[in-house]
Amino acid sequence: MRKTLIAGNWKMNNNVKDSLELVSSLINAQLPDEVDVLICPPFTALYPINEILTYSEIKLGAQNMHFEVSGAYTGEVSPLMLKDVGVSYVIIGHSERRQYFNESDELVNEKIKSALIHDIKPILCVGESLIQRESNIEKETVKNQLINALRGIKSEDAKEIVIAYEPIWAIGTGKTATSEQANEMAAFIRNTVEEIYDINVSENLLVLYGGSVKGDNAAEIMSQSDIDGALVGGASLKAVDFLKIIMYNNHVQ
Ligand code: PEP
Repeated sequence: MRKTLIAGNWKMNNNVKDSLELVSSLINAQLPDEVDVLICPPFTALYPINEILTYSEIKLGAQNMHFEVSGAYTGEVSPLMLKDVGVSYVIIGHSERRQYFNESDELVNEKIKSALIHDIKPILCVGESLIQRESNIEKETVKNQLINALRGIKSEDAKEIVIAYEPIWAIGTGKTATSEQANEMAAFIRNTVEEIYDINVSENLLVLYGGSVKGDNAAEIMSQSDIDGALVGGASLKAVDFLKIIMYNNHVQ
Protein backbone atom coordinates (compact mmCIF):
# COMPACT_ATOMS: atom_id res chain seq x y z
CA MET A 1 0.00 0.00 0.00
CA ARG A 2 1.54 3.31 -1.10
CA LYS A 3 1.17 6.21 1.32
CA THR A 4 0.57 9.66 -0.17
CA LEU A 5 3.52 12.03 0.12
CA ILE A 6 3.14 15.80 -0.24
CA ALA A 7 6.53 17.49 -0.39
CA GLY A 8 7.26 21.21 -0.37
CA ASN A 9 10.34 22.47 -2.21
CA TRP A 10 10.96 25.98 -0.90
CA LYS A 11 13.86 26.56 -3.33
CA MET A 12 15.96 29.65 -2.44
CA ASN A 13 13.25 31.29 -0.33
CA ASN A 14 12.69 32.10 3.37
CA ASN A 15 15.16 33.25 5.98
CA VAL A 16 15.22 31.50 9.37
CA LYS A 17 12.45 33.66 10.88
CA ASP A 18 10.08 33.14 7.91
CA SER A 19 10.92 29.45 7.88
CA LEU A 20 10.08 28.96 11.55
CA GLU A 21 6.80 30.86 11.18
CA LEU A 22 5.79 28.74 8.21
CA VAL A 23 6.68 25.47 9.93
CA SER A 24 4.90 26.52 13.15
CA SER A 25 1.68 27.02 11.16
CA LEU A 26 2.04 23.54 9.67
CA ILE A 27 2.77 22.01 13.09
CA ASN A 28 -0.33 23.67 14.57
CA ALA A 29 -2.62 22.35 11.83
CA GLN A 30 -4.31 18.98 12.15
CA LEU A 31 -2.66 17.03 9.35
CA PRO A 32 -4.41 13.99 7.86
CA ASP A 33 -2.94 10.67 9.02
CA GLU A 34 -2.98 9.20 5.53
CA VAL A 35 -0.64 11.84 4.11
CA ASP A 36 3.08 12.09 4.79
CA VAL A 37 4.16 15.74 4.77
CA LEU A 38 7.71 16.70 3.86
CA ILE A 39 9.31 20.12 3.74
CA CYS A 40 12.56 20.90 1.93
CA PRO A 41 13.80 24.31 3.15
CA PRO A 42 17.12 25.94 2.23
CA PHE A 43 20.18 24.55 4.04
CA THR A 44 20.38 27.56 6.39
CA ALA A 45 17.00 26.76 7.95
CA LEU A 46 17.41 23.00 8.39
CA TYR A 47 18.93 23.05 11.87
CA PRO A 48 16.42 25.38 13.56
CA ILE A 49 13.49 23.69 11.80
CA ASN A 50 14.66 20.28 12.95
CA GLU A 51 14.66 21.59 16.53
CA ILE A 52 10.97 22.55 16.37
CA LEU A 53 9.92 19.38 14.53
CA THR A 54 10.86 17.15 17.48
CA TYR A 55 7.28 16.16 18.32
CA SER A 56 5.89 16.51 14.81
CA GLU A 57 5.30 13.90 12.12
CA ILE A 58 6.43 16.40 9.45
CA LYS A 59 9.53 15.13 7.70
CA LEU A 60 12.56 17.20 6.83
CA GLY A 61 14.32 17.11 3.46
CA ALA A 62 17.12 18.95 1.66
CA GLN A 63 17.05 20.30 -1.89
CA ASN A 64 20.46 19.00 -2.93
CA MET A 65 23.63 17.44 -1.55
CA HIS A 66 27.16 16.51 -2.58
CA PHE A 67 27.92 12.81 -2.91
CA GLU A 68 31.15 12.94 -0.88
CA VAL A 69 31.03 12.87 2.92
CA SER A 70 33.64 15.60 3.50
CA GLY A 71 36.62 17.30 1.92
CA ALA A 72 37.72 20.19 -0.24
CA TYR A 73 34.41 20.94 -1.98
CA THR A 74 33.88 24.62 -1.26
CA GLY A 75 30.24 25.55 -0.94
CA GLU A 76 28.92 22.00 -0.83
CA VAL A 77 26.94 20.12 1.83
CA SER A 78 27.47 16.43 2.52
CA PRO A 79 25.04 13.62 3.34
CA LEU A 80 26.53 13.33 6.84
CA MET A 81 25.92 17.03 7.45
CA LEU A 82 22.33 16.59 6.36
CA LYS A 83 21.85 13.58 8.64
CA ASP A 84 23.30 15.62 11.48
CA VAL A 85 20.44 18.14 11.19
CA GLY A 86 17.63 15.60 10.92
CA VAL A 87 17.25 15.30 7.17
CA SER A 88 15.64 12.08 5.94
CA TYR A 89 14.89 12.98 2.28
CA VAL A 90 16.85 14.80 -0.40
CA ILE A 91 15.69 16.14 -3.76
CA ILE A 92 18.12 15.01 -6.45
CA GLY A 93 18.28 16.11 -10.07
CA HIS A 94 15.70 18.88 -9.93
CA SER A 95 15.43 20.45 -13.39
CA GLU A 96 16.71 23.77 -12.00
CA ARG A 97 19.90 22.00 -10.84
CA ARG A 98 20.23 20.26 -14.20
CA GLN A 99 19.64 23.51 -16.09
CA TYR A 100 21.51 26.15 -14.03
CA PHE A 101 24.22 24.00 -12.44
CA ASN A 102 24.81 21.58 -15.31
CA GLU A 103 23.97 18.49 -13.29
CA SER A 104 24.30 15.48 -15.54
CA ASP A 105 22.55 12.13 -15.23
CA GLU A 106 25.91 10.69 -14.09
CA LEU A 107 26.18 13.18 -11.23
CA VAL A 108 22.56 12.53 -10.31
CA ASN A 109 23.40 8.81 -10.17
CA GLU A 110 26.38 9.46 -7.83
CA LYS A 111 24.23 11.55 -5.54
CA ILE A 112 21.44 8.98 -5.39
CA LYS A 113 23.91 6.22 -4.52
CA SER A 114 25.45 8.36 -1.79
CA ALA A 115 22.06 9.32 -0.32
CA LEU A 116 21.08 5.64 -0.17
CA ILE A 117 24.34 4.64 1.54
CA HIS A 118 23.64 7.29 4.18
CA ASP A 119 20.06 6.29 4.71
CA ILE A 120 18.55 9.41 3.16
CA LYS A 121 15.64 8.82 0.78
CA PRO A 122 16.32 10.40 -2.60
CA ILE A 123 13.51 12.10 -4.49
CA LEU A 124 14.72 11.70 -8.05
CA CYS A 125 13.28 14.36 -10.36
CA VAL A 126 12.72 13.53 -14.02
CA GLY A 127 10.83 15.35 -16.74
CA GLU A 128 10.93 16.63 -20.28
CA SER A 129 11.22 20.14 -21.71
CA LEU A 130 8.51 21.70 -23.85
CA ILE A 131 10.55 21.08 -27.01
CA GLN A 132 10.95 17.42 -26.10
CA ARG A 133 7.20 17.07 -25.51
CA GLU A 134 6.37 18.86 -28.75
CA SER A 135 8.78 16.52 -30.54
CA ASN A 136 7.00 13.52 -28.99
CA ILE A 137 10.16 12.33 -27.25
CA GLU A 138 8.97 12.90 -23.67
CA LYS A 139 8.84 9.20 -22.80
CA GLU A 140 12.21 8.45 -24.36
CA THR A 141 13.67 11.41 -22.43
CA VAL A 142 12.25 10.29 -19.09
CA LYS A 143 13.24 6.67 -19.71
CA ASN A 144 16.85 7.69 -20.37
CA GLN A 145 16.90 9.83 -17.24
CA LEU A 146 15.63 6.87 -15.21
CA ILE A 147 18.04 4.32 -16.69
CA ASN A 148 21.02 6.63 -16.12
CA ALA A 149 20.00 7.77 -12.65
CA LEU A 150 19.35 4.21 -11.42
CA ARG A 151 22.43 2.59 -12.97
CA GLY A 152 24.19 0.26 -10.53
CA ILE A 153 21.53 0.61 -7.83
CA LYS A 154 20.28 -2.70 -6.45
CA SER A 155 16.58 -3.44 -6.07
CA GLU A 156 16.68 -3.48 -2.26
CA ASP A 157 18.05 0.08 -2.36
CA ALA A 158 15.78 1.19 -5.19
CA LYS A 159 12.82 0.56 -2.85
CA GLU A 160 13.87 3.65 -0.89
CA ILE A 161 13.72 5.96 -3.90
CA VAL A 162 10.82 8.31 -4.64
CA ILE A 163 10.44 9.55 -8.21
CA ALA A 164 8.97 12.96 -9.03
CA TYR A 165 7.71 13.51 -12.55
CA GLU A 166 8.14 17.21 -13.20
CA PRO A 167 7.58 18.36 -16.78
CA ILE A 168 9.90 21.36 -17.03
CA TRP A 169 7.29 23.38 -18.91
CA ALA A 170 4.93 23.12 -15.93
CA ILE A 171 7.35 24.23 -13.20
CA GLY A 172 6.60 27.70 -11.86
CA THR A 173 4.71 28.58 -15.04
CA GLY A 174 1.14 28.14 -13.84
CA LYS A 175 0.73 25.53 -16.62
CA THR A 176 -0.12 22.16 -15.14
CA ALA A 177 0.07 18.97 -17.12
CA THR A 178 -3.45 17.63 -17.53
CA SER A 179 -4.14 14.91 -15.00
CA GLU A 180 -4.24 12.41 -17.90
CA GLN A 181 -0.78 13.52 -19.14
CA ALA A 182 0.60 13.35 -15.60
CA ASN A 183 -0.90 9.94 -14.93
CA GLU A 184 0.21 8.51 -18.26
CA MET A 185 3.81 9.48 -17.50
CA ALA A 186 3.56 8.27 -13.90
CA ALA A 187 2.39 4.87 -15.19
CA PHE A 188 5.19 4.88 -17.75
CA ILE A 189 7.72 5.59 -14.97
CA ARG A 190 6.30 2.72 -12.92
CA ASN A 191 6.52 0.36 -15.93
CA THR A 192 10.08 1.44 -16.66
CA VAL A 193 11.06 0.80 -13.05
CA GLU A 194 9.43 -2.63 -13.33
CA GLU A 195 11.52 -3.33 -16.46
CA ILE A 196 14.70 -2.25 -14.65
CA TYR A 197 13.88 -4.10 -11.41
CA ASP A 198 10.70 -6.07 -10.77
CA ILE A 199 7.07 -5.66 -9.86
CA ASN A 200 7.82 -5.55 -6.12
CA VAL A 201 9.86 -2.41 -6.59
CA SER A 202 7.48 -0.80 -9.10
CA GLU A 203 4.28 -1.52 -7.17
CA ASN A 204 5.69 0.05 -4.02
CA LEU A 205 7.33 2.98 -5.80
CA LEU A 206 6.00 6.42 -4.89
CA VAL A 207 5.59 8.55 -8.01
CA LEU A 208 4.93 12.22 -7.33
CA TYR A 209 3.76 14.85 -9.79
CA GLY A 210 5.29 18.32 -9.70
CA GLY A 211 4.49 21.39 -11.75
CA SER A 212 2.19 24.21 -10.63
CA VAL A 213 0.25 22.08 -8.14
CA LYS A 214 -2.17 24.30 -6.20
CA GLY A 215 -5.02 23.88 -3.76
CA ASP A 216 -7.57 23.97 -6.56
CA ASN A 217 -5.98 21.30 -8.81
CA ALA A 218 -4.51 19.00 -6.16
CA ALA A 219 -7.58 16.78 -5.73
CA GLU A 220 -7.84 16.10 -9.47
CA ILE A 221 -4.13 15.28 -9.78
CA MET A 222 -4.11 13.17 -6.65
CA SER A 223 -7.11 11.13 -7.82
CA GLN A 224 -5.02 9.61 -10.63
CA SER A 225 -4.21 5.92 -10.25
CA ASP A 226 -0.42 6.14 -10.64
CA ILE A 227 0.18 9.42 -8.83
CA ASP A 228 1.06 9.02 -5.16
CA GLY A 229 1.68 12.58 -4.16
CA ALA A 230 3.01 15.96 -5.19
CA LEU A 231 6.23 17.92 -5.20
CA VAL A 232 5.12 21.50 -4.67
CA GLY A 233 7.22 24.61 -5.29
CA GLY A 234 5.50 28.02 -5.17
CA ALA A 235 2.41 26.86 -3.32
CA SER A 236 4.48 25.41 -0.46
CA LEU A 237 5.71 28.86 0.60
CA LYS A 238 2.50 29.92 2.34
CA ALA A 239 1.05 27.69 5.03
CA VAL A 240 -2.52 28.33 3.93
CA ASP A 241 -1.75 27.29 0.32
CA PHE A 242 0.32 24.27 1.27
CA LEU A 243 -2.31 23.11 3.76
CA LYS A 244 -4.99 23.25 1.04
CA ILE A 245 -2.90 20.80 -0.98
CA ILE A 246 -2.19 18.58 2.02
CA MET A 247 -5.94 18.58 2.80
CA TYR A 248 -6.81 17.94 -0.85
CA ASN A 249 -9.27 15.31 0.28
CA ASN A 250 -11.21 17.93 2.25
CA HIS A 251 -9.88 16.94 5.61
CA VAL A 252 -10.60 19.23 8.53
CA GLN A 253 -8.00 21.92 9.19
C1 PEP B 1 9.19 22.45 -8.24
O1 PEP B 1 10.03 23.32 -8.28
O2 PEP B 1 9.53 21.29 -7.91
C2 PEP B 1 7.82 22.78 -8.60
C3 PEP B 1 7.00 21.82 -8.87
O3 PEP B 1 7.52 24.13 -8.63
P1 PEP B 1 6.05 24.77 -8.82
O4 PEP B 1 5.09 24.01 -7.93
O5 PEP B 1 6.20 26.20 -8.39
O6 PEP B 1 5.68 24.63 -10.26
